[in-house]
Amino acid sequence: MDILIKKGHIIDPANKVDENLDILIADGKIVKIGKQGTISPSGAEVVDAAGKLVVPGLIDMHAHLREPGYEYKETIATGTAAARAGGFTSVCCMPNTNPVNDNRAVTEFILAQAGSASARVFPVGAITKGSTGEELAEMGELFSAGCHAISDDGKPVMNASVMRRAMEYSKIFDMLVISHCEDRALSGKGVMNEGVVSTELGLRGIPRSAEDVMTARDISLSELTGCRLHIAHVSTAGSVRLIRDAKARGVKVTAETCPHYFSLTEEAVRGYNTMAKMNPPLRTADDVAAIKQGLKDGTLDVVATDHAPHALDEKSGEFDYAPFGIVGLETALGLTLKLVDEGILSLTEAIRRLSVNPALILKLNKGMLAVGADADVTIIDPKAEWIVDAAQFRSKARNTPFDGWKLKGRAELTIVGGKI
Ligand SMILES: [Zn+2]
Ligand SMILES: [Zn+2]
Repeated sequence: MDILIKKGHIIDPANKVDENLDILIADGKIVKIGKQGTISPSGAEVVDAAGKLVVPGLIDMHAHLREPGYEYKETIATGTAAARAGGFTSVCCMPNTNPVNDNRAVTEFILAQAGSASARVFPVGAITKGSTGEELAEMGELFSAGCHAISDDGKPVMNASVMRRAMEYSKIFDMLVISHCEDRALSGKGVMNEGVVSTELGLRGIPRSAEDVMTARDISLSELTGCRLHIAHVSTAGSVRLIRDAKARGVKVTAETCPHYFSLTEEAVRGYNTMAKMNPPLRTADDVAAIKQGLKDGTLDVVATDHAPHALDEKSGEFDYAPFGIVGLETALGLTLKLVDEGILSLTEAIRRLSVNPALILKLNKGMLAVGADADVTIIDPKAEWIVDAAQFRSKARNTPFDGWKLKGRAELTIVGGKI
């Protein structure tokens, strides 16, 4: 079925388009873009997008879909349903499944499951076998099976020499190396940001240096090897500074942050709120300000979710023992649009961070609305005011600190490959 999206406000930063146009979709591709009322195909399903934003489908560079191995937390089916509800047409899934995605069989399993999923899935392969940080995974095999990037996310690669070799090999396949920056010797058994609040609550702290030391190391290794490095979930002012400096010197580094790092501070942990426990941890108001500045000046290229579903009984235990992480696919767009209201990002720059830049960094032929491109399109109602209700999530999981938040702006329709 052909689809005609009429009267929408198209924001397509890659092609510098910011105007009201109609779009015709056929056979999963965008086939025509024209002035309003100039496209009149017979028999197309018409989507009236008056008053709505029509943008290239959102791409989440960083999610945990938990399958295989932890299907009680999330599956590829439920995770991509959550993605689609949140406006994401593509999702990269991290390899810390069971078994770890460190070989062809796991990548192929994920892609097979993704065949019937609600959004496109791009598996990220592991850097080391079992993500234990010791022996490199078979990168060529992961690449030919369909991985565009590698990461041991959830853990750092603590041995700098192993990371150096991974970066050298990654260049052969031009695979992106995504780094979870955490020096385990510094983070230790910490459960929240180290500072006044952790002292008051009597919880073990994770200093900001645990992140910054590793960001500095991996920038240095990227400089040494010429590898394309992407820093995951930046949470500190120090890391923003290091990345800004590296970019100015021409290092091939890109970076993402997540909505929680610009929406919340460590204060959210008070009351031993396990929904505010994530890794890296929520930081201080100074860090939040630096993250916002980093997004504004382009130091931070991407907003990713780090969607990390957990079962409620896991999260309802004692703070020390609750797992790290929150879900994010269904709240990321609304939280990012708050930055537009605050004047931190223009709408165009917000879409750049949610779609255009992830596509460029991952070298996916996406993130734009050009004729001939895949018909991955998100239609956003920018005025829709809504209350986050975790009970209504399409995700299996409910672990969010944003339950009950009032947000403005929501994905109204997410089209993946020309399918509504
Ligand atoms: Zn991580
Ligand atoms: Zn992660």
